[in-house]
Amino acid sequence: MQDRQEGVARQLADDLWVIDTLFQGEPGTIASYLLTGDNGLALIDVGSGATVEQLLAGVRAAGFDPTDIRHLVLTHIHLDHAGASGALVRRIPEAQVYVHRLGAPHLAHPEKLLSSAQRIYGDKMDRLWGTTEPVPEDHLHVVEDGQRITVGSRTLLALYTPGHAIHHLAYFDEQRGELFAGDVAGVQLEGSDYVRPPTPPPDLNLEDWYASIDRIEALHPSVLYLPHFGRVGDVEVHLEQLRRRLGDWGALMLANIRQGKTDTELAAILARTFDPDVAQSIPGDETAVERYELVANYLMSAQGYVRYYRKVHPELLAS
Ligand SMILES: [Zn+2]
Repeated sequence: MQDRQEGVARQLADDLWVIDTLFQGEPGTIASYLLTGDNGLALIDVGSGATVEQLLAGVRAAGFDPTDIRHLVLTHIHLDHAGASGALVRRIPEAQVYVHRLGAPHLAHPEKLLSSAQRIYGDKMDRLWGTTEPVPEDHLHVVEDGQRITVGSRTLLALYTPGHAIHHLAYFDEQRGELFAGDVAGVQLEGSDYVRPPTPPPDLNLEDWYASIDRIEALHPSVLYLPHFGRVGDVEVHLEQLRRRLGDWGALMLANIRQGKTDTELAAILARTFDPDVAQSIPGDETAVERYELVANYLMSAQGYVRYYRKVHPELLAS
């Protein structure tokens, strides 16, 4: 475990840092991206309400003053990406929050978001996510598909990219050909080439997700910046692996849901089938399986598929 007061930031480009929010004390699990420039500091995703101090320490470690943050650009409103927004706005009143239309109401009134998270995480809720403060409505800016926003020194094109979440945007820097991908580009931890699809309920939709991947591929980005975690240069190979695995998991889950397996049993099947590949992808790193599980756990993934098939493809479950 690293010192939480120290802050962990690594420079990726002249105007770009990746900040490690040290989620649960684990490095390399949840990132925030810091953009700098004349237009004020910007963060793309901000991590959870439990890691606000680590995030701000990361900004300082990069050599900047957190009170200069002006833009909080959210790929989607899941707690590991947006949970810190309200606390940041309270501390830095000049900071504005950018979010998809379907996510904005839940940032202003997080009760529903929190009660559904509470159902999943139970008594681990506080430890994992800390306090999720509401964002005052006058700080919320709805971003639509195709809209361009200028933050730091970059202009980013917002791409509506559902599949993982119905309130998901990816942000494309057309000039540099780089995509701040959010979770629609999957999870790949540093040092590993294993791509894991984060498939939580309630929004998982495979058809939407494939269409979002197609849309990203059509832009031919040279780089993906993943919240979980870091820079991916081999974009085509990465997205192809994600597409294949979404389908493989789906087929495996569908067959077992049809046999009446419980959510816990489904999660165990995913772990048994895929953990050997995860472990092998970072030889000698015994924490690899654990860290993948921390950011995209199998139980939630199984529940995502169950809900998806019930909601979108009930005909496949009828026997
Ligand atoms: Zn997410």
